[in-house]
Amino acid sequence: MTETSKPAPADGLLNEVNDAFSGLTLALSKGRILEETMPLLRAAGVDLLEDPEASRKLIFPTSNPNVRVLILRASDVPTYVEHGAADFGVAGKDVLLEHGAEGLYEPLDLEIARCKLMTAGVTGQPPAKARRRVATKFVNVARRYYAEQGIQAEVIKLYGAMELAPLMNLADEIVDIVDTGNTLRANGMEPRELIAHISTRLVVNKAAMTMKHDRIKPLLARLESAVKKRQTQPIE
Ligand code: AMP
Repeated sequence: MTETSKPAPADGLLNEVNDAFSGLTLALSKGRILEETMPLLRAAGVDLLEDPEASRKLIFPTSNPNVRVLILRASDVPTYVEHGAADFGVAGKDVLLEHGAEGLYEPLDLEIARCKLMTAGVTGQPPAKARRRVATKFVNVARRYYAEQGIQAEVIKLYGAMELAPLMNLADEIVDIVDTGNTLRANGMEPRELIAHISTRLVVNKAAMTMKHDRIKPLLARLESAVKKRQTQPIE
């Protein structure tokens, strides 16, 4: 092969990724979202040909030649969809609230991974009266919430194990996801105020909703009926 006919590896991959793909790109994240969304996608005629949990690849073809799947970090899904790098995606409402998600349509509640975004504090300890120190990974949500409540708050960004912060006197309260409340209780904490009910949502890029309406609309309808069907009979 001559110098000119041999593409650089990066070009080769770029071509493979984007050449002749005029279908829909769906952004998902590994773990619970992937696990619980796949049965719905399968029922809507889109199945993965390979298990992303067992692969290092980030782009996956599906049984529907017009749909490919990107595997991203959950918090990057709204960014890809907002900028049109993915046409649609699946993200928790917690992630969407934190991201801001103005550039997205949110046409379908997949009604999975239901939980609550709440404030929580040390059990039996009254909330701090003066400026409250709040540890959370949901810093934007927390700033908005405390401002709306007229409570002065210093919001401290953490990436995990929020329950530890009040115990170690890093914060007075936390803002976190609560399902059963067991994690809070195991760490001597109690849920306080509800900020938002959370579930997993389908989000669509605004331009794609118009430009690719003919392809997105039928898929949305099939997903919607899969969500409804699952409420009456569980799907595989
Ligand atoms: P629980 O002990 O049942 O209240 O669960 C609380 C922890 O589980 C939280 O700190 C979250 O990290 C995680 N969790 C529970 N439900 C969800 C969900 N639907 N989405 C994301 N994380 C969740």
